[in-house]
Amino acid sequence: MTRFNFDVITLFPKAFELINNLGVITRALEKNLINVNLHDLREYGEGNYRQVDDKPYGGGSGMVLKPEPIYKAHDSINKLPNSKTLLMTPQGKVLKQQDLLRWSSLDQLIIICGQYEGFDERVRCLADEEVSIGDYVLSGGEIPAISIINGLTRLLPGTLGAPGSLIDESHNSSLLEYPHYTRPRVFKNMKVPDVLISGNHKEIKLWREEQKLKRTFNRRKDLMKRPPPN
Ligand code: SAH
Repeated sequence: MTRFNFDVITLFPKAFELINNLGVITRALEKNLINVNLHDLREYGEGNYRQVDDKPYGGGSGMVLKPEPIYKAHDSINKLPNSKTLLMTPQGKVLKQQDLLRWSSLDQLIIICGQYEGFDERVRCLADEEVSIGDYVLSGGEIPAISIINGLTRLLPGTLGAPGSLIDESHNSSLLEYPHYTRPRVFKNMKVPDVLISGNHKEIKLWREEQKLKRTFNRRKDLMKRPPPN
């Protein structure tokens, strides 16, 4: 089995310690299904102070990541044949499950994390795709990068205990997933729907399909390609 490589350019490599405590992702690291190489931007900084940021031309608040250290870090990465570079930015295309699926057949993702006010505009030339994880602004690209590592890794063969769980789940089709229940049958007066205990697999399947439509209609109409039947 080939290993998926993540190469991350970041000023805060320690933020990625989180992936050593994330269940499925941690197991994928242990099983060598993924490799996460962290490239500390500071090491590519300029001068004695390893400067990585500077004031914006034209004035304004905050600091901007300089282009040279990011280019040097990117150049230093060994590029595999099937590789893409992603730039984390709230100005990018909003991440979708389909993107994770699409990238999961690559060998390598190089992920550039911004900080402060962002990066010098010329850094954008390094990116194959600019990615936002949603319409809000975080202080750095580390959490967006971890989200991508997490979401993509669980799609890799051998990662999840039950591969079937990927088929039905929300955002894999245009519908949200149906509700789940486990024991006990009654909890604080809330009952598990009878159909799920009926043992009638046909009925269960129908109920789940109906729930998927209802849920999506009530919560995320925007995802639906066509309105549900009445
Ligand atoms: N001033 C910038 C935002 C800088 S936020 C602007 O208005 O566009 C600092 C860094 O955090 C960004 O460079 C980016 O790498 C990361 N970041 C913040 N929010 C993000 C989001 N929603 N998706 C992806 N990356 C984000």
